Amino acid sequence: MSLIVVGTMAFDAIETPFGKIDKTVGGSATYAAYAASNFVRPIHQVSIVGSDFPKKEMEILRKRGVQMEGVEIVPDKKSFFWSGKYHLDMNTRDTLITDLNVLENFNPVIPDNYKSAEFLMLGNLMPSLQKSVIKQLTTRPKLIVLDTMNFWMETAWDDLREVLNLIDVLLLNDSEARQLTGEYSLVKAARKIFEMGPEYLVIKKGEHGALLFNENNVFFAPALPLEDVFDPTGAGDTFGGGFIGHIAKTKDISFENMKTGIIVGSVMASFCVEKFGTQRLKEITKEDIDIRLNEFVQLVNFDIALV
Ligand code: AMP
Repeated sequence: MSLIVVGTMAFDAIETPFGKIDKTVGGSATYAAYAASNFVRPIHQVSIVGSDFPKKEMEILRKRGVQMEGVEIVPDKKSFFWSGKYHLDMNTRDTLITDLNVLENFNPVIPDNYKSAEFLMLGNLMPSLQKSVIKQLTTRPKLIVLDTMNFWMETAWDDLREVLNLIDVLLLNDSEARQLTGEYSLVKAARKIFEMGPEYLVIKKGEHGALLFNENNVFFAPALPLEDVFDPTGAGDTFGGGFIGHIAKTKDISFENMKTGIIVGSVMASFCVEKFGTQRLKEITKEDIDIRLNEFVQLVNFDIALV
């Protein structure tokens, strides 16, 4: 069992209708690693930070089995910084600031002991860097999952199209799927995305759940109706970490098992949104996860008599 997680490790400033925080640890690879480490260890982390990134945070991740040989620390430089403000519905947000900082000169070097990993989670990052990671691996992983966002569609279209050709599962939210394909219908969008390379597509719809497509099948998982949604930042990356964590744990890349992966991802995302930043992901136990998985089963379990 080996999983590489690639992406940003960052500082975020977040404003939601319920509060505001000027500096909290975030980043796509941070959230994904927190989620995945509940299911699979070690995790080979690939990222870059400045000397301002808290050592304590690295230590917490290390204790969860997240190996840091692939995380470059650049002295006297600042970590990636992102700032966003959520609308009242908490499903939509505006990006206020994206400061690439150390990311601008990032050239990921994959340590030799990562190079034959079986599973690869390419968290949200510059598409050219996602591609560079794939190219450095000595054996092709059993499954490559990629997450991206509108920012890269707008600033790195050609690189994004290239990397899409190399992966198996694409994770997007609904507006990103529409932006990538120019199709409003998500079914038509899925068809166009399969022509771009991926064999599977997961469309995250925030509080409205997630859809999993392949050429012949579609599966829908709801999101758990939660009493408190405090901060949705990182929910998508946490979902991705839970999804790939489950697949890497079970080593089963069938559509049926991906369905379970979607539920596991949704469970992990449901914890993420309950507090600011990564706070809630640090607190939860295996028991908490199992209880919530069971709540999901109950949520969609019903009998029907067809006459
Ligand atoms: P999510 O809410 O799942 O879309 O992820 C939010 C996280 O992604 C935040 O912690 C940010 O630090 C990180 N992030 C925001 N913009 C980017 C970007 N353009 N590339 C990589 N990571 C980003």
